[in-house]
Amino acid sequence: MFCFLDHCHGKCANLVCIVAIGLLSLACVSADEPSQVPTKHVLVIGIDGTRADALNAADTPHLDALIKRGRLWENTQILGDRPTENDTVSGPGWSSFLTGVWADKHGVQDNRFAGNQLDQFPHFFSYIRQRYPAARLGSFVDWAPIQQYIVRDADVDVCFESHGAGEYAKSDKKLADAAAAFLRQPESDVAMVYFGAADETGHANGFHPSIKAYTDSIATIDQRVGEVVAAMLSRENYESEDWLVIVSTDHGGRGTGHGGGHEVPEIRQTWMIVSGSAVVVKPNDIEPTYVVDVATTALKHLGIDLDPAWQLDGKAVGIKP
Ligand SMILES: [Zn+2]
Repeated sequence: MFCFLDHCHGKCANLVCIVAIGLLSLACVSADEPSQVPTKHVLVIGIDGTRADALNAADTPHLDALIKRGRLWENTQILGDRPTENDTVSGPGWSSFLTGVWADKHGVQDNRFAGNQLDQFPHFFSYIRQRYPAARLGSFVDWAPIQQYIVRDADVDVCFESHGAGEYAKSDKKLADAAAAFLRQPESDVAMVYFGAADETGHANGFHPSIKAYTDSIATIDQRVGEVVAAMLSRENYESEDWLVIVSTDHGGRGTGHGGGHEVPEIRQTWMIVSGSAVVVKPNDIEPTYVVDVATTALKHLGIDLDPAWQLDGKAVGIKP
């Protein structure tokens, strides 16, 4: 660098010199600084209000293929060991799913989001943004409060708001198309895709594996999952990008609802899939998993050191800790 200075004489030469030093400094910084984008990738899929037994009963070839390339837990808890006051509905459920902390921290007790602490305990995209400032993050939902209250730091932030019977199935299709388009772009690193039609169908017809309308809606969402996963698999550099796919839900259901479910197994116990070449299947692994493990597992897979100051309640599951 100093040899450039030695040759600087006159105004123009000084300018050239300054530019040259600037470029050299930039080169030095980029060589020493940590990467601005992750080398690994994550696709998170959330399917609202889906019981594990109904998932088993439904025709879901695309989710089955993900399980084959990873594993399925059917002991996932939507409430932690620490007592919390939150209702077993979507607001607290998706807040726990996306922040990695329980309701006594994120403060979402019901679907009103009143008094929430989501700035202090943010969506997991915020931690990715801190570590990888240039990461490309996409969020795709059709339950509007997720976008309105929870999503942070998304480069692409899509919401197809749904009202009225059958609307979620249409929005789910549009969402899948948008998420697939995002995933086909080579610079995209992390996507979170939410599907709402199974919950809407459960409220209208009942949350139970014997109810065909409910299992059919799960089967339709499986087709959407297939579309999104196909886009991920079609990426030119897929083989070297180490994608981890995590799929789970926010609660189960009983009858035509799921509120007040602290003591109701078919509401509070759900399921989780973790899929990809990074998955380590441990024999006889009966440890319970929790909905707060979704965010933590995504962060760990991306190589992000979890800062104790974040106070995350989840742990990484299915991959090396
Ligand atoms: Zn829900």
